[in-house]
Amino acid sequence: MAIVTGAARGIGAATAKRLAADGFAVGVLDLDAGTTKDTVTAIESAGGSALGVGVDVADAAAVKAAVEQVAAELGPPLVLVNNAGITRDNLLFKMTDEDWDAVLAVHLRGSFLMSRAVQGYMTQATWGRIVNLSSTSALGNRGQANYATAKAGLQGFTKTLAIELGKFGVTVNAIAPGFIVTDMTAATAARMGISFEDMQAQAAAAIPVNRVGQPEDIAHAVSYLASDGAGFVSGQVLYVAGGPTV
Ligand code: NAP
Repeated sequence: MAIVTGAARGIGAATAKRLAADGFAVGVLDLDAGTTKDTVTAIESAGGSALGVGVDVADAAAVKAAVEQVAAELGPPLVLVNNAGITRDNLLFKMTDEDWDAVLAVHLRGSFLMSRAVQGYMTQATWGRIVNLSSTSALGNRGQANYATAKAGLQGFTKTLAIELGKFGVTVNAIAPGFIVTDMTAATAARMGISFEDMQAQAAAAIPVNRVGQPEDIAHAVSYLASDGAGFVSGQVLYVAGGPTV
């Protein structure tokens, strides 16, 4: 079975549905169990099986309980997608301690806690796949000192887990999306005081494939990295951004 965090909406929801279509039972984790209903219903309507569980990925006890619950109901988790994420954008001089801590807690501590909680199932099965959601912001992005730091940190985390877990048949990779149409980017547009349509048009003009990304673009990349055939790909950062990144 596969676990996807932050799977109530956006990239996580698309990824959960895609992994279900690939044949995995899916643990659909998000902050509030109630919000996972749409994703779970979509998977079940398509003939798959899924379980929605509420968990704050930054809370060690809650993570342990959630992983144990999905493992008991759906079987050992052999795929983990660390997707849950938040932004608290601000220029450095305006960024609060809380903005910094909240972003690092969800992305870094959350991915650490989730990975630690599932690794035993994977090493025991001598097969596993961990995919961490990084971002092109890891390369630096104005107003995102906290987020860029977390997303760059996830790349080091990815490479280290790949080294530690490889001999147990577990691959660990990161996907670094560019501009993807989700509530997260819609909120950024609102914060910047521009319409989401204008923001997408501006972004698309600067992207070599001449369009913005959709959650399914990322789900497709996760599907590949989670596949059996990708077993020799580990410790990599796959930029899924419609063009090269500098
Ligand atoms: P989204 O639409 O905002 O969805 C994120 C989900 O994560 C939400 O359902 C959110 O729940 C959940 N979440 C937040 N904090 C959590 C926590 N502590 N524990 C469990 N779940 C939590 O975001 P998205 O655009 O799909 O992004 C998904 C991932 O891709 C994130 O890691 C993001 O940084 C990364 N990414 C996105 C883009 C992009 O352009 N959209 C680009 C690069 C990377 P609530 O709704 O309850 O807050």
